[in-house]
Amino acid sequence: METTDGRRAHTAPLVLVLFGAPGVGKGTQAQILAEKLGIAHLSTGDAFRKAIAAQTEVGKQVQRYVESGALVPDELVSQTVAEELQKPQYRSGVVLDGFPRTIAQAQALEKMLRNLGMSLTAVINLVVPEEVIIDRLVKRGRKDDQPEIIRHRLEIYHKETAPLLHYYQTHSTIPVITIDGNADIDTVNQRILSAIKSRIHSDAQQ
Ligand code: ADP
Repeated sequence: METTDGRRAHTAPLVLVLFGAPGVGKGTQAQILAEKLGIAHLSTGDAFRKAIAAQTEVGKQVQRYVESGALVPDELVSQTVAEELQKPQYRSGVVLDGFPRTIAQAQALEKMLRNLGMSLTAVINLVVPEEVIIDRLVKRGRKDDQPEIIRHRLEIYHKETAPLLHYYQTHSTIPVITIDGNADIDTVNQRILSAIKSRIHSDAQQ
């Protein structure tokens, strides 16, 4: 939402995308951030794992992708997110975690936010060295955290998801804020919060 002179209105809901490779800590940070900012948290990975556990229609459709570390097809992901974002709990803002992951998903997101009268505030790009990521994931030990599947997910990240950053930097005015995620949870959280505050504050003064 924009004011008449093009500035972001102070009341516009925050819509943040937490971006980064598997294992950078998106889920952990998204949850803390959503709590501190008083907005909703939407993790597509969590949503899919729940759907698989409950064996819903969506769960059955996504199971083989999630368990092999492949991306769920864009249309299915975007449809799931679009339905979810209709719910009233997202009206005051949301931290998106694990979505968008492809350029097609980014375009779908733009459209669904526009339909809701909302817009993306910023993309937060969490960066952690690959050897740290692999170590973290192996320790986490989720079903898709076996070395071969981790390698596959990292490969997909570099091929399909990383180009999104360039897309946001070149095709939009949405700020991309890069944060060093190689520190303890609280430190990383402080870094993200202060970056958001200074960014939004300086935007409001432009
Ligand atoms: P991580 O970031 O550690 O890979 P996530 O919980 O975000 O973990 O995602 C787990 C899996 O869920 C992915 O490997 C993929 O199969 C599926 N998934 C989640 N979000 C998306 C998305 N936006 N597009 C396609 N697949 C997705």
